[in-house]
Amino acid sequence: MCEFCVQHGEGKKWYLTMENYSKDLLDQKNRRKYSAEFLNEFHVRTPKSMGQLEQIRRTPLMKLAKPILTHNQKENHYGQVVPMEDVEKIFELVEGAVRLPCVCRRVTTGNMNARYCYGLTMDRQLMDSLDDSFSLEILSKEEALDSIRKLDKEGLVHSVWTFKTPFIGGLCNCDQDCLAYRITHARKDYPVMFRAEWAAAVSRDACNGCRLCMRQCQYGAIRYSSNDKKVVVDPAACYGCGVCRAVCSRDAITLYPRETVKEAAGIW
Ligand code: SF4
Ligand code: SF4
Ligand code: SF4
Repeated sequence: MCEFCVQHGEGKKWYLTMENYSKDLLDQKNRRKYSAEFLNEFHVRTPKSMGQLEQIRRTPLMKLAKPILTHNQKENHYGQVVPMEDVEKIFELVEGAVRLPCVCRRVTTGNMNARYCYGLTMDRQLMDSLDDSFSLEILSKEEALDSIRKLDKEGLVHSVWTFKTPFIGGLCNCDQDCLAYRITHARKDYPVMFRAEWAAAVSRDACNGCRLCMRQCQYGAIRYSSNDKKVVVDPAACYGCGVCRAVCSRDAITLYPRETVKEAAGIW
């Protein structure tokens, strides 16, 4: 289990702990104000902070800044990848969802209305503090789950996000336009998002070598062997998102608990 499960999971996965979605937590630590400012100002504030990061990331200062940035991220707004089966379990803990435009894509693509984010714990007060550009959509559990299942088939990686840890504010559906993907994985600046509690493996007997799963994997964790014409997952590279399974007609890919996969255990 990751450090968040140890600290905030009451012996379970931290994002399957009811307390972390509670109104009591939303009422504490000025979380409504923090969340509203985070969302309303993201597309204005983030280009400036990305510019500052760009200036220091190739200098010796980055070594000093990395633990501070990581600490702040974990305290305030941290994510973890979750596969679809855990998304289904998360929706047993919440009443529905509020769909809103993705704030990362506002910055990385300029699209102000790419609707990939699902608020899980917004109350009326918080919704009223968001600016009109969010044009919130209130969805039932089933509506939200149906739309997220479609995104899973398209290969979008699901993740849960804290708004002042451990309170979980939202569930995201990301591709390589995600700033967390870029900072954590593509550029390896500092960790903004944990890997899932899972890691994938391919059954060599079932795999027919079609390679569709390789295109679905955003982390380059699946390799093709031209010797035996099958694929294999590199456990050390796998984020455990599980979206590769959606395109496998042979059901050849399975997720295993990360701690049981020797080469993936302890890699977050
Ligand atoms: S984490 Fe993903 S869905 Fe959430 S704001 Fe960033 S790209 Fe959008
Ligand atoms: S999609 Fe399935 S059958 Fe095709 S290469 Fe991947 S694991 Fe093998
Ligand atoms: S191999 Fe791992 S990281 Fe890649 S899509 Fe499958 S579960 Fe996700």
